[in-house]
Amino acid sequence: MQKLIEFIQDIYKTKEFLPLHEPKFIGNEKKYLNDCIDSTFVSSVGKYVDKFEKEFASYVGSKYAIATVNGTSALHISLLLADVKAEDEVITQPLTFIATCNAISYIGAKPVFVDVDLDTMGLSPKFLQEFLEKNCELVDNHCINKTTNKIIKACVPMHTFGHPCRIDEIKDICDKWHISLVEDAAESLGSYYKGKHTGTFGKLGAFSFNGNKIITSGGGGVIVTDDEKLAQRAKHLTTTAKVPHPYEYRHDEIGYNYRMPNINAALLVAQLEQVDKFLENKRDLASKYEEFFNANSEIKFVKEPQNSKSNYWLQAVILKDIASRNKFLDYTNKQGVMTRPIWKLMNELEMFKDCQCVNLENAKYLEDRVVNISSGVRI
Ligand SMILES: *Cc1c(COP(=O)(O)O)cnc(C)c1O
Repeated sequence: MQKLIEFIQDIYKTKEFLPLHEPKFIGNEKKYLNDCIDSTFVSSVGKYVDKFEKEFASYVGSKYAIATVNGTSALHISLLLADVKAEDEVITQPLTFIATCNAISYIGAKPVFVDVDLDTMGLSPKFLQEFLEKNCELVDNHCINKTTNKIIKACVPMHTFGHPCRIDEIKDICDKWHISLVEDAAESLGSYYKGKHTGTFGKLGAFSFNGNKIITSGGGGVIVTDDEKLAQRAKHLTTTAKVPHPYEYRHDEIGYNYRMPNINAALLVAQLEQVDKFLENKRDLASKYEEFFNANSEIKFVKEPQNSKSNYWLQAVILKDIASRNKFLDYTNKQGVMTRPIWKLMNELEMFKDCQCVNLENAKYLEDRVVNISSGVRI
C-alpha cells in the first residue's frame, strides 16, 4: 500500500493532503463572473443561463436543456414531468447517492430497489426484467406491482461514478412495461453508451454541477429532454409557474424556485469550455491506475464497461473483502491521501428500510468492497 501512496503522490506531484476530487478554475471563470456582476443580472434572468442551456444541450446531443439550482431539483422536476405522483412507485438501484431517493420521496412516491450489474455498478436490465415478470402485470397500460397494488410509474437508473449502465436494454424493458425512463446522469457528463451520451436515452435526464462533479457551478443542475412540451413544462415549473406578463404576478399552479442563478451559469459556461480537457486528463489518469493495479492481484481497478466510453469521474478500486477495505481506507486516509467507500445501500437507511427490494447480492458485494481513490484533474 505504501507503493500506492507513493504512486499517487508522484502523479499528483504533492506530498500534502490530497482531496478525493477538487474543482479546477483555470479558464474564463473570473472573466465571465466579473462580466455577470457588472451586468447586475446575477439572479434568475440573464444571458449566461440561456447560453449555458444552449451549449449544454448541444454538447450532450439533446434538443432541450433547462438549468436548475442543483441536481436533486433537476431529478425532482424530471420525476414530476414523468407523471410520478404520491403513492406511485419508482424503480431504482440501491447503490446510489441519496439524492436519487430523496427526489422520489419529495413527491411522496416510494422507491423499489432492483440489483445492479457487477461490471457497470448500475441498474441491471436482467434483474429489472426478472423483477417485472415475477411481480408485476400490465393493466390499462399501467405497470401494477402485484405485491403493493401500486403503479410503477418510472425507473431511474444511475451511471455510477460515470460508468454507463446497460441503458439501451433498460429502455427497451421500460418501454414494454409502460414505465417512464428518467436517467440520473448526475455523475456521467462526458460518458457515452454505444456512442450516445448518457442522460439522453430516457424521456428525461438529470445532471449535477455540485462542487465535486466533473464541472461545477458551485451548486447547479440541468434537465435534458427531446420533448418540446416537457421542456416548456420544466422551465415553467422551475420558475414558480409564472405566466408571462409584462407586469402582473400570475401563477397557474404550484411551482418551484429552482432556476439556476445567472452568476452560477457564468461559472458553468467557463467550465463547459474546458470539459473535454478535463475528460482527457481523467481518462489518462485511469490508464495510469489500470497499469499500476495490473501488477497487484489483491486490488482490482474498475475499468469502463463494454460498449461505453466513461468519464471516469471518480476512480474506483475493488478490495478483496470488507476487512481489507477498512484497512485500505484507514491507511490511505492516515497518509493524507483521501479515499472514500462507496455509499451505504439505500434500502439499509432508516427512511427506506420498508421499501420493496429483491435479491441485492451484487449491490451488497460492491458495498463491502468498492473504494474511490484520488480522482481530481491534474492540470
Ligand atoms: C451528485 C448527485 C446528484 C445530485 O446532487 P446535487 O448535489 O443535488 O447536485 C444526484 N444523484 C447522484 C447519483 C449524484 O451523484
